[in-house]
Amino acid sequence: MDDRETTDGPEPAPDVEDAFSLLADETRLSILRELYARDEPLTFSELRERVGMRDSGQFNYHLGKLKGQFVEQTDGGYELTMSGFRVLGAVFAGSYDEQTIDPIPIDDPCPLCSGGLEAIYDRDHFEITCEDCETNIVAYPAPPGILRSRDREELPEVFSRYARHILGQITDGFCPFCLGPTAVELDVEKVEGIGANHQCQHCGVDMTMSTGVSLLQVPDVVAFAREHGVDLQDTPLWALDPLFTGDERLVEDADDPATIEIDVIIDDETLTVRLDDQLTVLETIRS
Ligand SMILES: [Zn+2]
Ligand SMILES: [Zn+2]
Repeated sequence: MDDRETTDGPEPAPDVEDAFSLLADETRLSILRELYARDEPLTFSELRERVGMRDSGQFNYHLGKLKGQFVEQTDGGYELTMSGFRVLGAVFAGSYDEQTIDPIPIDDPCPLCSGGLEAIYDRDHFEITCEDCETNIVAYPAPPGILRSRDREELPEVFSRYARHILGQITDGFCPFCLGPTAVELDVEKVEGIGANHQCQHCGVDMTMSTGVSLLQVPDVVAFAREHGVDLQDTPLWALDPLFTGDERLVEDADDPATIEIDVIIDDETLTVRLDDQLTVLETIRS
């Protein structure tokens, strides 16, 4: 047997049911809540008082259930493990419940038909969508925490920033759900242009996006846009679409048939970006 130490599989699948049943208890949740957002650990009796449980045997039983996975005991007392933080963070982010908002109109026109764009949040995801051609320009799941402590008017831009953040994570090779590594495969069958299918090698989730998205962090592309007065970082996703012509093409005469080209066009000047099938930039050509 290979005795190399690796961090990848096979590893035991996380026992999701066990984790949920551990947390299906009001006392345990309130222990986690009391330890959340605290710089200092709490002693056993401080924690028991805050949770408001008299019976220290009972309290000890519930605390014991959380120890290891969600709570750890240090010299100073009890504190949350990273899993404990994450699980409480998910509680603050909100459940995917019935929250919706009225559509918010956006000033910029639809990049496809020049119709009216609007931002929508519906239960568990947001969309920047065209009222006229009904295309979703940006759509992504997000817990309702994204709506909190924010003005209604700023939400379209917040949605765009969040989507860009997640897309950056994916193109950098991280699964946004479990942080496992992603592998990319080109989807040349995609109707509009060439899609990039990113699949998580750990949890298996599949995410398809346009290949143009992976250009947003390419230095030559960022510099080219800046020379033409466009700050790619500040431009909302729905306004970027016209820059990427959407006609990504396979390069016929290349040694590797999976080489693709994408044109970025600003003010009649074109930057052609050549990528391999892993979306690594091979070269950029100005014309
Ligand atoms: Zn449209
Ligand atoms: Zn994953």
